[in-house]
Amino acid sequence: MIEAIVLDWAGTTIDYGSRAPIIAFKNAFAHFFIDLSEDTIRQDVGLDKLTHVRKMLQEPEISNSWIANHPDTPLEKAAAEIYAQFQIEINKVLAETAQLKPGMTDLIKFANAHHIQLATTTGYTQAMLDQVLPLAAEQGYKPAYNITSEQTNHVGRPKPDMVELAMKKMNITDPSHVIKVGDTVNDILEGKNAGTISIGVVDGGNLIGLSEEEFSQLDIEHRDRYHTIAAATLKEAGADEIINNIGDLIPLIESIEDQQHDMPLLLTPGPLTTSKTVKETMLVDHGTWDDDYKELTQWVRHELVTIGNATEKDYTAVLMQGSGSFGVEAAIGTAVPKTNATLLIAANGAYGERMIEIADYLAIPHVVLQVPEDQTVTLAAVEEALAAHPEVTHFAVVHCETTTGILNPIETIIPTLADKGIITLVDAMSSFGGVPIDLEKLRVDYLVTSSNKCVQGVPGFSIVLAKKHTLQATEGNARSLALDLYAQYQTFENQAGKWRFTSPTHVVYAFAEALRELEQEGGVTARTHRYNNNETLLRKGMQELGYELVIDESVQSPIITSFKFPTADFNFRAFYEYLKNRGFIIYPGKVSKCDSFRIGNIGEISADDISRLLDLIKTYTAEELQLQVQK
Ligand SMILES: *Cc1c(COP(=O)(O)O)cnc(C)c1O
Repeated sequence: MIEAIVLDWAGTTIDYGSRAPIIAFKNAFAHFFIDLSEDTIRQDVGLDKLTHVRKMLQEPEISNSWIANHPDTPLEKAAAEIYAQFQIEINKVLAETAQLKPGMTDLIKFANAHHIQLATTTGYTQAMLDQVLPLAAEQGYKPAYNITSEQTNHVGRPKPDMVELAMKKMNITDPSHVIKVGDTVNDILEGKNAGTISIGVVDGGNLIGLSEEEFSQLDIEHRDRYHTIAAATLKEAGADEIINNIGDLIPLIESIEDQQHDMPLLLTPGPLTTSKTVKETMLVDHGTWDDDYKELTQWVRHELVTIGNATEKDYTAVLMQGSGSFGVEAAIGTAVPKTNATLLIAANGAYGERMIEIADYLAIPHVVLQVPEDQTVTLAAVEEALAAHPEVTHFAVVHCETTTGILNPIETIIPTLADKGIITLVDAMSSFGGVPIDLEKLRVDYLVTSSNKCVQGVPGFSIVLAKKHTLQATEGNARSLALDLYAQYQTFENQAGKWRFTSPTHVVYAFAEALRELEQEGGVTARTHRYNNNETLLRKGMQELGYELVIDESVQSPIITSFKFPTADFNFRAFYEYLKNRGFIIYPGKVSKCDSFRIGNIGEISADDISRLLDLIKTYTAEELQLQVQK
């Protein structure tokens, strides 16, 4: 729980670019005929101002200049004189630069709404602070406590005394419940030394040092370069997190609170970890008959076709209540006519097996191409099966077989079968949205996915992306009333987005938000990139720790990775509990012929999360080995 935020003033909350002290120092030294460069001044910003003057006077060039210009005044007295002048100069510029930085108003609102106390520490003197406080208050910023080093026996940054005094006044004892935010290295050190979460702000901070106007006039590459350098400097000083805008503190606090509330990360292939904003969508109730909801449904259907790189001229998205298997069963049960049709099912894992079970249940004539779980279904094998079974009219295969994480080469198999006039069905449940899929290039007839996989929504409905021409010829095929894909499609089309039976409204709203967030991330390309990064990091890291892979790296998907048990008597339950207690839920294995476990890479998961997981597994593995040695 975050109880308080301790904020710096110039460059962090007011005075974009931290211009006031710079201008005042420059003018104060100029008053004594000494020309100071901005770089010289910026090196030690964040210190208390008298210390800062003394520090600058130690530079040979500056001390020589003083001696040359003021032979009658000894260097020891110079600091006091320049400091006095600085106070005159700063008073002139403070008023102009006391504007709240962008994002501050939102942060203040957020803190008030969440009962998070605000306090400040500063390199300002008390006199300067007294001038700034009413100007900030006019803009709605009234921190409960404002500490200068005059209140801590002149012990300022990077020592923790000012933060500690603020905490004492706020009645807070645990520094891990406090966030210290600032824009300089001394700010970061102050936070670290006090034991708080220490966060660096980059935009409008001292390390960039440009006014808002100057900064906005830079091209994007320059701005990036400034960001990168400033962020690296603060990170090197030990910052726990870096934010650009001070307003970015809001989502950061939310995510810290989530972690502290023991909200575990699901490293499982759906349900998976969704964003807070996706979850929040579900706090509102909606009726199924509502026009807005029907329009939203139509928009979702449209977006899904677009993500499949197709248009609604040829393809349509039919949503079906229930989990992913409901979509597979609806598609199989509706696609295959009741007479003169045979389905070929290629199976190299549990989800291929499930399609066989569905065909059994629905009494659909079918033949099976059985492939070992650690090998892909190849075009050659499919063609061989077709040659042996000329009666086959329909074909079904899984894209990413979540059993192992293996990726079957649908881009070679499906177009070839389309050429032969065979109707194709792909279970792309765990890959759609996370791996690029081009429906029109594949010419696939049915492709099934669900709300709780790579689009990163919550469980509640499945999705069948169907070639319109094929689907339109399936009236009367269905073996089930509720799972009649054709009837479902007709209702969406004829009633402007109305679902056939009661639909999971909350889930649909959450899914729409997830679609918008997929777009914001940069679409499927960006998402694949992130998943790939996660997977590579995980796989390499685990291999370094001695864990072996179940399938070959060349056929590994970015979705989920399977690892063999490291030893014959490996206690998966204990391993699972250890990770669960530390915030990660992993997945048991499903491979039939070897003992394994799985770790998913999909969902709202970053490389940072994977690194934290690997650290835990490293510790666990070392302890486990230790125990075995003792045995
Ligand atoms: C998740 C998944 C399914 C659907 O499983 P449900 O439990 O019904 O949601 C089907 N196929 C694959 C490959 C999957 O990963």
